[in-house]
Amino acid sequence: MLEIKEIHSYYGSSYILQGVSLKAEAGEVVSLIGRNGAGKTTTLKSIMGIVRPAQGSIKFKGTEICGLKPYQVARLGLGYVPEDRRIYPGLTLKENLEVAQMKPGLGETGWTFEKVYQFFPHLRALGEGRLGSNMSGGEQQMLSIARTLLGNPEFLLLDEPSEGLAPLIVSALADTVNEIKAEGVSVLLSEQNMKFAFKTTTRSYIIDGGKIFFEGKIEDLMANEDLVREHITL
Ligand code: ATP
Repeated sequence: MLEIKEIHSYYGSSYILQGVSLKAEAGEVVSLIGRNGAGKTTTLKSIMGIVRPAQGSIKFKGTEICGLKPYQVARLGLGYVPEDRRIYPGLTLKENLEVAQMKPGLGETGWTFEKVYQFFPHLRALGEGRLGSNMSGGEQQMLSIARTLLGNPEFLLLDEPSEGLAPLIVSALADTVNEIKAEGVSVLLSEQNMKFAFKTTTRSYIIDGGKIFFEGKIEDLMANEDLVREHITL
């Protein structure tokens, strides 16, 4: 469904992604694991067209999307939940969701407001009038995912969703990712938290210094202590 071949991405003269290749089939939840600064966010931004790779190919459902603008990529069915969540603090919970309705019809079929509230009962319990600034990190993460789901993505890019959240919330979030998969949405998840990745994904990649060092089953990754030490924990 998503196939990235040998992308090279820069910020100015800083050479960040140095030939990243990865793929995700329909129905998969794939994780991209790496420490701070490894290139996870840059990979997701390159897929979304926020960063434009200098070289390489990114195909989504067989269509080349490398070089497209973010709104064009989003229209093809890719949804992006950024690491910093981008909740509008001065808007209410409902208004934050309505932002996703910029395209007429969104929120009326597929992922409706009702379906989103069924999916995240905690958001319903908070109340639609709750201000974004008055929500915890976990609540903001749920809202950010809910807002992206309202765009009816076929494929979701989730950037470090567990970052900064308490263990109980992280566990609930893992259930959410598994439920999203059950709804038929494929996911590419960037993570530092290997336990979270273990609960949600079957196939993983390790990224370090803008290069891929491992591709395979997450069980095999967890069992390879040297690999984990060299590219993730140290
Ligand atoms: P993190 O958890 O810190 O976000 P990451 O794996 O997502 O880690 P990236 O955000 O992709 O890493 O960053 C990869 C490299 O690119 C880092 O060295 C970072 O300092 C650099 N970088 C990120 N954004 C910019 C930018 N806008 N301008 C210049 N360098 C950047």
